[in-house]
Amino acid sequence: MTPVLTIDGPGGAGKGTVCMRIAAAMGWHLLDSGALYRLVGLAARRQGVEPDDAAAVPDLAQALDVRFEIDRDATRVTTLLEGDPVDEELRTEQAGNDASRAAAIPAVREALLQRQRDFAVPPGLVADGRDMGTIVFPEADLKIFLDASAEERARRRQLQLLEQGLSASLEELREEMEERDRRDRERSVAPLKPAEDAWVLDTTDLDIVAVVDLILERLRD
Ligand code: C5P
Repeated sequence: MTPVLTIDGPGGAGKGTVCMRIAAAMGWHLLDSGALYRLVGLAARRQGVEPDDAAAVPDLAQALDVRFEIDRDATRVTTLLEGDPVDEELRTEQAGNDASRAAAIPAVREALLQRQRDFAVPPGLVADGRDMGTIVFPEADLKIFLDASAEERARRRQLQLLEQGLSASLEELREEMEERDRRDRERSVAPLKPAEDAWVLDTTDLDIVAVVDLILERLRD
């Protein structure tokens, strides 16, 4: 069996960076499942369909034409939706919010299930998301739930945006984040919560290097 590490948690908890560093350290594959939901939201917008339209969006999810291309020196991934690079569009708060609306439709989640499981190939997989440990990989070898206070998560998201040359007010980011978290935690399918056998790590007072070290230590135990 291919070893799988799942890392779930709310937005801004640092999952993306932590997963990337662990995948690089272990030489494992990486599944950014949030990107798949963001792509579904984007595909809906492109068709002029609302992201929470339960009649139309599941078909778009099923037919999603996406490719992830790794550049020559393996430092950057380009995401192609129907052949168009969409990374910039995918990272906006609007795309996150659209993703969360599409993700609350049960048939959308169903349509993406096998696509996600197909990422589990040797030598191993780090899976980043909201339901990796609860639904997609219930048999994972190690399950982590990364959390942090809402203030800290908004601050981290603001820093991330600044690095991309974008600015946003902390207050606005926090409000958007809390709205998205509420929707993710309260939805009827795959609500955001730690798996029963997950290790819950509060990273509010930890930096990224400390979090990565803690997880690598557990993984190599
Ligand atoms: O992690 P990211 O911010 O890219 O996720 C965007 C949205 O996609 C989340 O707010 C959540 O609603 C949805 N999502 C999900 N299940 C996952 C990953 C993401 O429902 N495994």
